[in-house]
Amino acid sequence: MSRKMFNIAVAGATGAVGNEMIRGLESRNFPVKNLKLLASKRSVGRTLKFQGEDIAVEELTAEAFKGVDIALFSAGGGPSLEFAPKAAAAGCVVVDNSSAWRMDPEVPLVVPEANAHAIAGYVKKGIIANPNCSTIQMLVALTPIHRKYGIRRIVVSTYQAVSGTGKKAIDELLDQTRAMLHFMDVPRKVYPHRIAFNCLPQIDVFLENGYTKEEMKMVNETRKILEDSSIGVTATTVRVPVFYSHSEAVNVETREAFSMEDIRSLLASAPGLRVVDDPASQRYPMPMDAAGQDDTLVGRIRKDESIENGLNLWIVADNIRKGAATNAIQIAELLAEKYL
Ligand code: NAP
Repeated sequence: MSRKMFNIAVAGATGAVGNEMIRGLESRNFPVKNLKLLASKRSVGRTLKFQGEDIAVEELTAEAFKGVDIALFSAGGGPSLEFAPKAAAAGCVVVDNSSAWRMDPEVPLVVPEANAHAIAGYVKKGIIANPNCSTIQMLVALTPIHRKYGIRRIVVSTYQAVSGTGKKAIDELLDQTRAMLHFMDVPRKVYPHRIAFNCLPQIDVFLENGYTKEEMKMVNETRKILEDSSIGVTATTVRVPVFYSHSEAVNVETREAFSMEDIRSLLASAPGLRVVDDPASQRYPMPMDAAGQDDTLVGRIRKDESIENGLNLWIVADNIRKGAATNAIQIAELLAEKYL
C-alpha cells in the first residue's frame, strides 16, 4: 500500500527554527507531497533547499494555505495570532511554535512523550501549540517520575543558549565575542546588556510579580501539559553565552517516596531521553553534546538530601531541535499517522 503524502507549509522558513524544521522534515523522512516555504515580504526572492531542490520563499498570507494539510508555524507571536486561525479556516492543521496560543483552553499544548493523547483536541480550533523550549526538555525527563510518584514541587534554574532568541542573537554573540577579543567597541542590538562573557538573569519581559514571562511560561505550561494545576513550579531563567542547547538544574519533590534505583530505571527507559551520568569518569550532559541531537540528555542524578522526597537532575537539550522543530514535527507525525 502506498504511503499517504501531505502538503506541508513552514511559516517562518528563513528563521533559526524554520530552517531546522526543513532539515527535520528531510531527515525524519516525513511524507511530504509538496512543501511551501513562507516568510516575511523581506525574504521573497530567496530560495531554500529541500531534498536537493530549490524552493522559492513566498510571503506569509492567508491565501498561501489553500490546499495545505499541515502548517508548521515559527514566525513569531504576531504572525501566529493573525495567520494561524486563517490557516485553520483554510482547512489545514497548524502546529504553532510561538507562545500566542499555548494557554488557550481550546488549543492542545503537546510534548509527545508526555501527553500525545491531547493532540485529539486539535479539532476545536485547528491549532496545536508547541510548548516553550525549556518546558519541553524538562517534561521529557519529569513525566515518567510524575506518573509514578506524583510531583509536588519543581524548582528549576535554566542556562539558555542565545539561539533561543533567533538568528539575530546568534550573530550578536558572535560579533560581541569577536569584538571583545580584538579590544573593539562591543555592538549591542538584541539583549539589554552584553551577552558575550556574561550571564543575563532575564529572558523575555518582566511581569508585575517580579518573574519574567519565560519563567511564568515554565510554571503555567508545565501544569497544563501534566494536567495537574496543583504542582508547585518556580523558575529562574538565565541567558548564557552558549550558541545551541539549553541546560537546566532541576530540583523535584515527589508526593510518594522513591528509590534512586527506580528513578534511574524510569529515566533509562523514558522515550526521547538519554541518561549521561557517570561521575567517576566525569560524564554528564553538556550543551556541546546535545547540540544537533533530537534526544534530551539527563545526568547528575542524585537524591536531594535536604528534604524527604527530593531529587536533583541536570537536563540538557538542543533548543532548536527538541525545544522547537523536532517537537513540532513529532506532533505532525502523530497527526499524519492517527488523525488526518
Ligand atoms: P528567527 O530566527 O528570528 O526567525 C523568524 C522567522 O519568522 C523568519 O523566517 C522571519 O522571516 C519570519 N517572520 C518574522 N516576522 C514575520 C512576519 N511579520 N510575517 C511573516 N514572517 C515573519 O526566530 P526563531 O528563533 O526561528 O523563532 C521563531 C518562533 O519560534 C518564535 O515565535 C519563537 O518564540 C519560537 N521558538 C523559538 C525557539 C528557539 O529556540 N529559537 C524555541 C521555541 C519556539 P524573515 O526572514 O523574512 O524576516
